[in-house]
Amino acid sequence: MKFYITTPIYYVNSEPHIGSAYTTIIADIIARYKRLMGYEVFFLTGTDEHGQKVYQAAQQAGKEPKEFCDELAEKFKSLWKELEITNDHFVRTTDDYHVRTVQIFVEKMIENGDVYKGVYKGWYCIPCETYWNEDEVIRDGSSVLCPECKRPVKWLEEENYFFRLSKYRDALLKHYEEHPDFVEPDFRKNEMLKILEGGLKDLSITRTTFKWGVPLPRDPSHVIYVWVDALINYVSAIGYGWDEETFKKWWPANVHLIGKEINRFHSIVWPAMLMSVGLPLPEKVFAHGWLTVNGQKISKSLGNAIDPRYFVNKYGNDVVRYYLVREISFGKDGDFSEEKLVGRLNSDLANDYGNLLHRATAMVQKYFNGSLPRPSEGEGIDNWLKERYFQTKDEYLKLMDSYKLTEALEKLWLFIADVNKYFNDTQPWVLAKENKMDRLGTVLYNTLETILKVAIMTSPVMPDTSEKVFGRLSFDAKPSLEHLEEWGVLKPGSAVKHGEPLFQKVEVQNLKKVVETVIVEENTITIDEFSKVDLRVAKVVEAERIPNSRKLIRLVVDLGSEKRQIVAGIAEHYTPEELVGKNIIVVANLKPAKLMGYESRGMLLAAKHGETLRLLTVDGDIAPGAKIS
Ligand SMILES: [Zn+2]
Repeated sequence: MKFYITTPIYYVNSEPHIGSAYTTIIADIIARYKRLMGYEVFFLTGTDEHGQKVYQAAQQAGKEPKEFCDELAEKFKSLWKELEITNDHFVRTTDDYHVRTVQIFVEKMIENGDVYKGVYKGWYCIPCETYWNEDEVIRDGSSVLCPECKRPVKWLEEENYFFRLSKYRDALLKHYEEHPDFVEPDFRKNEMLKILEGGLKDLSITRTTFKWGVPLPRDPSHVIYVWVDALINYVSAIGYGWDEETFKKWWPANVHLIGKEINRFHSIVWPAMLMSVGLPLPEKVFAHGWLTVNGQKISKSLGNAIDPRYFVNKYGNDVVRYYLVREISFGKDGDFSEEKLVGRLNSDLANDYGNLLHRATAMVQKYFNGSLPRPSEGEGIDNWLKERYFQTKDEYLKLMDSYKLTEALEKLWLFIADVNKYFNDTQPWVLAKENKMDRLGTVLYNTLETILKVAIMTSPVMPDTSEKVFGRLSFDAKPSLEHLEEWGVLKPGSAVKHGEPLFQKVEVQNLKKVVETVIVEENTITIDEFSKVDLRVAKVVEAERIPNSRKLIRLVVDLGSEKRQIVAGIAEHYTPEELVGKNIIVVANLKPAKLMGYESRGMLLAAKHGETLRLLTVDGDIAPGAKIS
């Protein structure tokens, strides 16, 4: 049984942040779960290194693009190592085998008649490296914005090669119909169906305006569009075009795990590309939601500030992993908050799980000399516990198999609550006092056997903690599905070690609110930034309405060393006569602008409240040109 799982390859225009860590951790949990279930797993992640955005980021950093990419790829690799990510390979789109595979793949699309030369005219978002149609962009006044990232898009006209994406619309619709689970969650699939039903436009797949990409072999003045280049990583890394045997073993992928913003590329463009070269489609594309931080979208500065390492160093890998899966409903958008993380740590982990193990091992130590007692014939409550276990195990496996990770942990913690109830209701401390050692031994055995089951089931999410639990219980087998299917895995007489609690509680009020500090800092400026604004007192020497304009007045102001023309939208609030002679405040170093054909060199300051507008003036007389600081 094989299982091939991928993360998106991360764009190296910035460092890894909690968002990329989230996707990778989730993929790691799924990979570990499949290994636990006995699958042979290939888990792929990597970096996306071509394109204009990376090239520009390298230039800004004053580095050669390859050197720049090498450094960033290393940062991703070392973070994944710190987070104990168990990827089997790390693909880089600048790797030789990948570059060759991209060329082979695209040439095959051309040979199959799916590519033609045409002129691309339209909008392009550099940050997203995405083309947008006229009806997709957002118009906000005179600016045209990317519908995805809301940044300005660029008008492009150039000769490109086009992929006949439109040709695959019907085949894609048919595939969606025949494979209702192809895209998950459902609401993401419906978004894709809407796009497909609306019809597809052919996709420009080469660029000529820059060189940082994979050249098209038959026309090397063209580099292959970075998205086409990137998507091919899923087959290049496993040997397409260079190791057919390995490729056949792993392809098709069982799941492409992605963020929702790149769903269109994975659920429409990529499948069409695969159809074009005659390859089977991946079994599933799973698009998870976005992570926000204390309610804010992860921006570059915020993202860098909440380096996942900070939380891992402070709380440990397992706590961060548990929190991300348990608190952020997998598939939907979710919010990262340190306070909630600590809440989960204190209640779910320290109280419910760690403390249970602590109490049970303490009693084995005290009353059985640290040797696991042999259980006797059970009572009603023991059978109830076992029944609850097998029911939970079945639910857990079913939920994990369908990528319902959050629900799987929810079920598991309901069960842990029941184990706690069992431990409290059987009153082992009373049994000890009354010297009912046989009954006490049974209760402790059952409690520890369930804790072993919990440790096996949570091992994909909290591998280090599970290792600790296995050590305490002298369970030294490689955990597997078999150990979940049978009751009585722990061997009576084996050593049970009582040690430090598994988790240390953290006081919520002692939290240093790093994240909130960053958010506040994002909205503040330094004194240096403020001092860049050159504010001056200016005396109005002339004023007149601009013909045919309801709002604009042309002013000539005296700045001491010079006279300047400023155009201001204040005609509804002041007459020209009222203005002459006033000492007003202007921004003297604003870039000149033209308003209705009149040049304006500066901006005056005014206070506005509802329909009222009043100009800023100085309190008393002062020479024109006086600096405001
Ligand atoms: Zn964009």
